[in-house]
Amino acid sequence: MATQHLPLEEPLASEVTAGLIDLAALSREAGYVAFETLDTLATTMLKRVLALCLARRGAVLLSEDLDSLDSDSMPSRANAKTFRALALHNVHEEEAYALLTTLPSLDGQAPSPDMTCWVTYRLMPGEVAREESLQAMLVLGWVSDQGDDCSASIVRCRTILPLLSDAVGAVIGSILLAERVHKLEETAVREALEGMEVLKAELLGTVSHELRSPLASIKGYAATLLRHERRLAREERHQFLLAISEASDRLEVIIERLLEISQLETSQVTIEPSPVDVAYLAGEAITAIEERVTATSPGRYIFSLMMENIDGSVTHTVPLIMADARRLREVFDNLLENAIKYSPEGGLIKIIIRPVMQVQSNEHIPRKMLEICVTDSGMGIPDEHLKRIFDRFHRVDTRLTREVNGLGLGLAICKRIVDLHDGVIWAENKSHGRGSAFYMRLPMSAIPII
Ligand code: ADP
Repeated sequence: MATQHLPLEEPLASEVTAGLIDLAALSREAGYVAFETLDTLATTMLKRVLALCLARRGAVLLSEDLDSLDSDSMPSRANAKTFRALALHNVHEEEAYALLTTLPSLDGQAPSPDMTCWVTYRLMPGEVAREESLQAMLVLGWVSDQGDDCSASIVRCRTILPLLSDAVGAVIGSILLAERVHKLEETAVREALEGMEVLKAELLGTVSHELRSPLASIKGYAATLLRHERRLAREERHQFLLAISEASDRLEVIIERLLEISQLETSQVTIEPSPVDVAYLAGEAITAIEERVTATSPGRYIFSLMMENIDGSVTHTVPLIMADARRLREVFDNLLENAIKYSPEGGLIKIIIRPVMQVQSNEHIPRKMLEICVTDSGMGIPDEHLKRIFDRFHRVDTRLTREVNGLGLGLAICKRIVDLHDGVIWAENKSHGRGSAFYMRLPMSAIPII
């Protein structure tokens, strides 16, 4: 169907100009109105068109299923249902579909003057906001027995619609865009909710299991103490109280970890950078854990701290970096704690610190980073778990790891902290010998002069 542009006579020209301005305003409005009011907007648009064409009834119908439509012909009876009604005025949906298939188009024969006259007008796909995959139809009607001059109105409509169609197309396009954004938002919200459901399930599964064992100890020892207080020797009572205290500590750690990961994941944590001597921090962490494990398993673990220059030569100092010392110490504590937990037979636990140049895929200039590597001689990590161990609650499930208590949150916390420092963390299995190696790299940005 060729679009006809007939000359406009005054005052029709000013009416059409006003109509176009109105439609442009509606098109802009679609960008920010609430989703629920988009159909009101579509109805307003239709009413504007009806008023300009002096028509009483009308519908805007859309189809995105072009496979069943022949682009040059009118919709057939078979494919009328592929349309959906975007706006209706004094026409039922069914009636509008029926009209679509039976009535002549704007260029068709003139309707008889003594009945309700209808015309259908196809907005060219390009006019509907350049939506190639969309067909939009306007169905307009006049009621002659109420005194309408159908023929005159149809002539007017034939003159005006080709001029208006771009503007109508723009409104429809904006409405469709707003609908699509709304759908995307809904999907995002649904996915976030699904994510929360998964988190809830993981939480309940892991946490209830982890909470149960220290709670059971506390309950058991406390009940025995209460029941047999008089019969228990002083030494036995002391042992029971010690066990209760240890189980309470474990509960405290679990609760603190849960709180911490939730704070890190909801962006409630910010880092407070200051110049940090990472080697000193690592030394402190080693001393703390060494004291603790030597008390329970003397001689089982050997700790070592090494520093290297960028060329691999040994050094005794490393440059200061800007970091949050408290948070970084937490990362060291977690990695060293794991090195012990997952090396039940003991062995060497080593920290190596060295500057490296890191080439990032999205940057041309290499970045100077401080690399910290924590290695152990323990059970190692199956290759397929190397990435996933940084996901919250992810634990490697083997006979060996099952014997080790854990929530699967330590590494997730480490990763969030390293991310906050704009650094990277990853795990590898040692290339020589047994055990795993955890690497983190932190930017060596300039230290501000105070
Ligand atoms: P948790 O130790 O509480 O389970 P983490 O997040 O610290 O939680 O560690 C996640 C998992 O990664 C552990 O369950 C374990 O399977 C594996 N893992 C972590 N550190 C080591 C290590 N040094 N050696 C072997 N496996 C490790």
